[in-house]
Order: sequence, then structure tokens, then C-alpha cells
Amino acid sequence: MPSQPHIPADELLEWYARSRRDLPWREPGVSAWQILVSEFMLQQTPVARVLPIWTDWVRRWPTPSATAAASAADVLRAWGKLGYPRRAKRLHECATVIAREHGDVVPDDVETLLGLPGIGSYTARAVACFAYRQAVPVVDTNVRRVVARAVHGLADAGSPSTTRDHAIVSALLPKDDAAPTFSVGLMELGAIVCTARAPRCGLCPLSECAWRRAGYPPAQGPARRVQSYAGTDRQVRGLLLDVLRLSDFPVTRAQLDVAWLTDTRQRDRALDSLLADGLISRTVDGLFALAGEGD
Ligand code: SF4
Repeated sequence: MPSQPHIPADELLEWYARSRRDLPWREPGVSAWQILVSEFMLQQTPVARVLPIWTDWVRRWPTPSATAAASAADVLRAWGKLGYPRRAKRLHECATVIAREHGDVVPDDVETLLGLPGIGSYTARAVACFAYRQAVPVVDTNVRRVVARAVHGLADAGSPSTTRDHAIVSALLPKDDAAPTFSVGLMELGAIVCTARAPRCGLCPLSECAWRRAGYPPAQGPARRVQSYAGTDRQVRGLLLDVLRLSDFPVTRAQLDVAWLTDTRQRDRALDSLLADGLISRTVDGLFALAGEGD
């Protein structure tokens, strides 16, 4: 094992050039805004579900100002069933700030990006790296897993720590203009080869992997529980929002209630949380509407 933590850039870059998925937000000519939209949508959502929604979205609203000019309800409808609809609201707010305060251009530095609505540590660096080719560490679950295995010989990455994870990945980046491609390559390797449940080591381009060399020692500690979606408040929120998305008019409480009859307390809790998040609103005559449609 090399004394310095190391992932051979040439092996990773050659593999990425040959094996990367053709995703539309990686095409030449895609704007920083459109890349930012893809990053919002890809948080906790598989690529296959994002593809059609992203394609329609950027065709309809190609710029921050176009997005900002849309109504909050139109944005929520276009978000469809991507889940975690607060992201749609934050994306709309983000578009509004970029249009108003940044001349309709996505900022290119991490610090300014971090000040925008809905943009956290990962998204700020992903936009700086993928849209502006900056040599910043971009660390998601996939990257943390590849580094844990290939560099540290561990089955999984353990608890995240932004400072530590960024320092580790920064040290791995090549010191030339290949750094952004290295970052996206590392992420891609974790997404399609070094996957959480079944790493496909036979297809891995890395000639050196500490975990493989050690004979794949199992993870320490209790197995992580996989969160189920069925029956969660998140599912109930989604069902209530569907009623409003599919209606051109505000609806009655009874129309909402019928969406989830299994547990009425859970349904009330979900409805309260949607109101509190500003994703839906009450009209003066006591009906319910998507944000901005009940005024
Ligand atoms: S050899 Fe296997 S475990 Fe190691 S980085 Fe490649 S895919 Fe992951």
C-alpha cells in the first residue's frame, strides 16, 4: 500500500472516459443553472426518476429568472413525484435570489453558493466543480464509500464529518486540471461499480484497493437499517400533495382526508407539516390549495 493515501488518477480517468453514463446534465452546453437544478433533484432521488422531470424542467424554465417567474404551485406540480417537495420550494427561492441579486448567473465560488437558499455543502461544491471546473472536493455517499474501501480498507465510511471528509478527498485530487473530472469519476465509480450492497470488483479500474487486498473484512458495528417508505409520514405527505397537484382548484378537507384513511392522526400530522412548510395553504373559505394558489 502506498504510504500516502492515493487513488491512481490515470486509472480512474481512463475508466470514466470509457464507462461513464450519458446523463443529459453532463452534455456540453448545459448551463450552470441547469446543472444546479440536476443537483437539487438528485439529492436522495435515483437518476432514472430525475431524468424525465429534469428534461421537462429545463426546457420549460431554462434560466433562474424563468424559474423565478413561475408560480410556486407550477413549480410544485412540475416537481411531480420526485419526493421531498421542500426541495422544489427551495429551488424556486434559489432561482429568485440568483435572478434578483446575481444577474441571473449562478455564482461560481463555494462561499457565495453556500449563501443561496437550499444549497448546502455538497451542492455548493458540486456546482463549483461540475459547472465551473473548480478543484474542490465533492463528497457524497458514493465518494465516501469508494475512499473508505480503496484507501482505508473499510467496508463502509462510517459517520460523515464534513471537515475530515473534505480534507481526505482534497488530498486525493490530482494537482492539475484533471481534478474536476477525477471528482466526478470517483462519484461515478461509487454509483455504478463500487456500490453499497454488491461491489462489482471485477469491473473496477483501480489496480489497488485496500479493502479487496485485506480480503473484504466486514463492517464493524450494527448493520444499518434500511428506511422503508411505505406507511411513513413522507408517504402521507406525498399522497396529500398529489390530491392538490391533480386539481386545478382548491379542494375540501374531505377530498384530502380520503387520500389516507389508515391512520387519521398521522394524516393530520402530515397535513399540518405541509401547511407549516408553506407547500400548501388554506383559502379564506376554508379550502386547501397548493402554495400560492389559494390567495
Ligand atoms: S476493488 Fe471493489 S471494493 Fe475496491 S474500489 Fe473497486 S469496486 Fe470498490
